[in-house]
Amino acid sequence: MTTTSPDSGPTATAAVDNFPLGTVEPDYVLTDALGTDPASVFATISDEDRGYWDRARSFVQDEVLPVIDGYWERAEYPLQLLRRLGELDLLRDGVEVDGYPAMSSMAAGLVNMEISRGDGSVATMIAVQGGLALRSVAECGSAEQKERWLPAIAAGTEYAAFALTEPTHGSDSVALESTATATDGGYLLNGEKKWIGNGSVGGVSVVWARGEDGQVHGYLVPQDSPGYSATKIEGKLALRAIWQAHIRLDNVFVPDENVLPGARTFKDTARVLLATRLGVAWSAVGHATACYETAVQYAKQRVQFGRPLAASQIVQERLARMLSELATMQLMVVQMTRLDEEGLLTPEQASLVKYTCTRTARGIASNARDLLGGNGILLANRVARHLADIEAIHTYEGTETMQALIIGRGITGTSAFA
Ligand SMILES: Cc1cc2nc3c(=O)[nH]c(=O)nc-3n(C[C@H](O)[C@H](O)[C@H](O)COP(=O)(O)OP(=O)(O)OC[C@H]3O[C@@H](n4cnc5c(N)ncnc54)[C@H](O)[C@@H]3O)c2cc1C
Repeated sequence: MTTTSPDSGPTATAAVDNFPLGTVEPDYVLTDALGTDPASVFATISDEDRGYWDRARSFVQDEVLPVIDGYWERAEYPLQLLRRLGELDLLRDGVEVDGYPAMSSMAAGLVNMEISRGDGSVATMIAVQGGLALRSVAECGSAEQKERWLPAIAAGTEYAAFALTEPTHGSDSVALESTATATDGGYLLNGEKKWIGNGSVGGVSVVWARGEDGQVHGYLVPQDSPGYSATKIEGKLALRAIWQAHIRLDNVFVPDENVLPGARTFKDTARVLLATRLGVAWSAVGHATACYETAVQYAKQRVQFGRPLAASQIVQERLARMLSELATMQLMVVQMTRLDEEGLLTPEQASLVKYTCTRTARGIASNARDLLGGNGILLANRVARHLADIEAIHTYEGTETMQALIIGRGITGTSAFA
């Protein structure tokens, strides 16, 4: 027997040669899609919505899965995938843009789910560029700003960031300290922002800062503006194939025409954030689906004690539990999305679905990781990447605890944030 690994030295070859035949591990096939709709929740999806979903699935299979492990491991940002999302009209997160067909909230959710089933960094490109930046301009921009920015951001020809979080204000971003001071023909921005996806890739940032009236306003800031400096945050354990930036704003001049007129108070910022919470819940379903699929396939192929893992009652019970949890998440996102399409989704419901789905997905990923044994920590077997990436979605767009406090306020009528 010979080994084909270029790294195998004489010792490694000798060790393999000493193994009896039949002890070489098979090449597991783990990324094929399985039937993962036990409650038939997707059976009634419209043809238009299914068109978006199918396009997302082909993109994942053909363009994401073949390359993503390498980018993730090297912590490189495959910006070409962001542009492809734009070309395929998968970047908009349901935001209406002139010249584009209607994209329902359900279609946006299915895209978020499917892309996350492939990879969390690529899904976060949608969350940042479409969900947050594009939506900010659509919700708060003037007619001229919409004409200038929406088509380019939707197409992925202009990169876009949403800069709200600060080093000292995360969950309490309502208390942000960056300032906007009036000057001739515009404003001067000062402050710092942390964790800003796409903040250092050379595009436009929607920066949230406090005006002299004490209220939070939104500003469109090209990233090559003098005084705007952004450093890529290094050493991340999650979402390694997309970059977040630490931004410093040092007297950055923003002309009047780049002030978002519809962003008058933090309530306008919160409106954008509310819309994206549901998208994160869909992402969690995608991550959980990938982990479940991998666990089932591995359990069928991995033989221990002379039989596949899948023949063990305990393993079957674990798979059943995972499928039951997955179905629960699916039912919840579909119902909340129907409410969203009717304009009826409340902040408490958006928090409930994000809270439930991210924490459930975290459990499914952990269970799947364990079922794969040592192979569960290998990037090539994809569960480890999802497990790590879920840690980020568990935190961004409002941590699990923040969602719990919103739900708790709804239950009790008492705010317990401070
Ligand atoms: C990968 C990634 C990408 C991101 N992308 C962006 C982006 O593009 N743009 C952007 O603006 N931001 C972005 N963020 C920031 C994100 O929204 C914040 O990380 C998040 O809001 C939490 O803030 P924090 O990290 O400062 O944690 P903190 O607010 O410091 O929270 C730390 C812990 O304390 C808990 N906690 C806080 N307050 C309370 C309380 N009152 N009671 C009980 N517990 C509490 C939290 O739940 C959490 O467990 C990103 C973050 C990550 C990790």
